[in-house]
Amino acid sequence: NVLSLSTTTISNDKLLDGLLVSSFDEASCFSRYRSYLYRKTSPHKPSKYLISKLRNYEHLHRNCGPSTKSYNKIMTMGTNFSKIDVSTKCKYLVWTAANGLGNRIVTLVAAFLYAILTDRVLLVKFGADMFGLFCEPFPDSSWLLPRSFPYWKDQKHIETYESMLKNTNANSSQELLPPFLILNLQHTHDGHNNFFHCDGSQDLLRNIPVLILSSDQYFVPSLFMIPSFRQDLSKMFPEKDTVFHHLGRYLLHPSNEAWEIIRKFYEAHLAKANERIGLQIRVFNTHRAPHQTVINEIIACALQHKLLPDLNTQKSVTSPSKKKTSKAVLVASLYSEYGERLKTMYQANRTVTTEVIRVYQPSHEERQKSNDDMHNIKAWTEIYLLSLCDALVTSPKSTFGYVAHSLGGLKPWILQRAYDETIPDPPCRRAKSMEPCFHYPPKYDCRVNGTVDFTSLFQDMKHCEDVSSGLTLV
Ligand code: GDP
Repeated sequence: NVLSLSTTTISNDKLLDGLLVSSFDEASCFSRYRSYLYRKTSPHKPSKYLISKLRNYEHLHRNCGPSTKSYNKIMTMGTNFSKIDVSTKCKYLVWTAANGLGNRIVTLVAAFLYAILTDRVLLVKFGADMFGLFCEPFPDSSWLLPRSFPYWKDQKHIETYESMLKNTNANSSQELLPPFLILNLQHTHDGHNNFFHCDGSQDLLRNIPVLILSSDQYFVPSLFMIPSFRQDLSKMFPEKDTVFHHLGRYLLHPSNEAWEIIRKFYEAHLAKANERIGLQIRVFNTHRAPHQTVINEIIACALQHKLLPDLNTQKSVTSPSKKKTSKAVLVASLYSEYGERLKTMYQANRTVTTEVIRVYQPSHEERQKSNDDMHNIKAWTEIYLLSLCDALVTSPKSTFGYVAHSLGGLKPWILQRAYDETIPDPPCRRAKSMEPCFHYPPKYDCRVNGTVDFTSLFQDMKHCEDVSSGLTLV
């Protein structure tokens, strides 16, 4: 039965092989059920177990989310919540923003995984600059932390994870645990030594009703280090480097406003090309290398890996019978120079392959801004457009690039950091994983009370191409 077969295929594609449920109202979030039309079908299928975990999570979120009885009970008590009365069937993980959008998104995905593993409900504290970016991911509920949250503004009086670690000794009673706890996993905070990856810490955290997380790191590899989570994680992700790819596509649907920008741009510039190449150029220190060096480096990388053709400087006549193919180049950068120079280069010259190269740069914000909603919409739409490309060249140590390649299920070519006018050799290296890199992973071995390189303990962890002390799942 061909008809029903093709209908099943469409519904499989549309629901991303079962990651998504079909019960949402389409008009409230067009991207949710239409993104599949803009991206090649992912060769990576989510496991049945992951899908069942997601359905269980949705059930939990529905029963414990904002405005449910359990939510109101815990949250309205706030500070008055007695330390003795912490028994509750619903527990929460409150995500708070730190750093740029890429950092925020990688921690959001890590937080979601942590919530799934610990049966917590993920609630996000979005300010105005995040509010318009995403659709609601969970059916029949909301993931937005209500403004009435007792600690929306002032978190001064909440106990912290570090103070809890200090004050807790082995025989202290669980009943003395606080109802709300700040869990700061930012890299500047405790960096390599926060013990979060130790089973003992998880035993303590498990019984705290509300954790308020602040992080700027993709701490997923830490979750894989925790013995009590490892088995569950292996079942959820038989392919280890698909964590972000699956959870990101499950969680992150551009809002209708963002989707309209993405869709229009894609249809106007990217849809008709035979191939789409994304270049993400993040320069952390503009004084280190001139723009032209970075351009030369990108060209060297793109030529070496046949992502873009060389220029034809000879006046040879090309045979008119040859059908012209085209490549669209999407440049994402804060600076207009990159898009402009590449555009000029390919406009003024033919290419050796006779391919037509068209270069587009959606925006150039010149500098990173925080708490600006339009700035974040631009960043999010560019991350998403990059994720729709067929191949990516990205910048080292940039979470902006990580989100793009992980969502897209791509292994990017990562540029090497350039100094002065020298083009690094090689100019770029292929990532071995689709996963984001965890820049500041722990170094503490919980079992022996010493330091360790976790790549020696876990075969599925490697150091990252762009951050040698970082960790990534492979
Ligand atoms: P990272 O600093 O590269 O790890 O990425 P983040 O996303 O965390 O922070 C960089 C921020 O700078 C982004 O969120 C944007 O606000 C801005 N930004 C950096 N590169 C670009 C770009 O190519 N396009 C746009 N629109 N914004 C960018």
